[in-house]
Amino acid sequence: MGVDKDAKIFVAGHRGLVGAAVVRALKKDGYNNLVMKTHKELDLTRQAAVEEFFDTEKPAYVILAAAKVGGIHANSTYPAEFIAVNLQIQTNVIDAAYKSGVKKLLFLGSSCIYPKFAQVPIVEESLLTGPLEATNEWYAVAKIAGIKMCQAYRLQYNFDAISGMPTNLYGPHDNFHPENSHVLPALIRRFHEAKVNGAKEVVVWGSGSPFREFLHVDDLAEATVFLLQNYSAHEHVNMGSGSEVSIKELAEMVKEVVGFQGQLTWDTSKPDGTPRKLIDSSKLANMGWQARIPLKEGLAETYKWYCENYNV
Ligand code: GDP
Repeated sequence: MGVDKDAKIFVAGHRGLVGAAVVRALKKDGYNNLVMKTHKELDLTRQAAVEEFFDTEKPAYVILAAAKVGGIHANSTYPAEFIAVNLQIQTNVIDAAYKSGVKKLLFLGSSCIYPKFAQVPIVEESLLTGPLEATNEWYAVAKIAGIKMCQAYRLQYNFDAISGMPTNLYGPHDNFHPENSHVLPALIRRFHEAKVNGAKEVVVWGSGSPFREFLHVDDLAEATVFLLQNYSAHEHVNMGSGSEVSIKELAEMVKEVVGFQGQLTWDTSKPDGTPRKLIDSSKLANMGWQARIPLKEGLAETYKWYCENYNV
């Protein structure tokens, strides 16, 4: 299947957590013809602008890592933006990519596409077998539409569009917003600020009992390049680390990595979300790829990045 090192690859969303890591991974692998556009240069929600970009640039490959993302609070607070912006971006990019003659497109989604009570570890075939988790169904519906659009374009036009569904991600360039981010960056920031301010306690949301699987974004980026090079089929592919921790265990780990000495308290007025989300990544493993960065190590490295890049 192979992708030439000088093939023109458009990485949509290169300033985000995932896109930035994909660019690092591609460069590390020797790819030397990457196309990137900032939000200001190209607004992916504008169909005409996206079509013009593809007609002019004519990339050979596309990695679609641009999306409106956020944690449990952001998803519930901005439902309209989560569904509309994601549908617009992916519809514009997938359609324009096909029409301009792109050889292959890889669409990245999220494990929240699966039903709230899907059997764990969640296999790819669980998609659309039950109701979604209410806190992020807007985002999930958009991502499901993205998978289906890739499949439909493959069926009708023979367009080589594939989809990868990553588990919860973390790493450098994450969003560390106190309310709108995901749990891991939110906790890094909260524990760090508590340590710096000499606070006695840190409040963590929910009961602490839900489990989450975390994958370092550099692992995800490697897996993304691997799929681009080795996978061309209808079905989407799970991308996970294979291990899960409870939010309580995660909070204890972050506390230790940051070096906060005080207490943890739980705000049970905040939602827990899905009880477990571990995905079954054996399909990817059977193709020959596996995650390599342990959570503890990745956490320490992400905390270091946070300290160096946020002046707090
Ligand atoms: P989810 O995997 O889509 O539910 O996304 P999140 O990363 O936002 O939340 C994961 C879990 O962590 C949920 O059970 C949250 O209640 C819990 N959690 C604990 N503290 C926080 C926090 O400060 N921010 C976020 N986003 N979640 C938190």
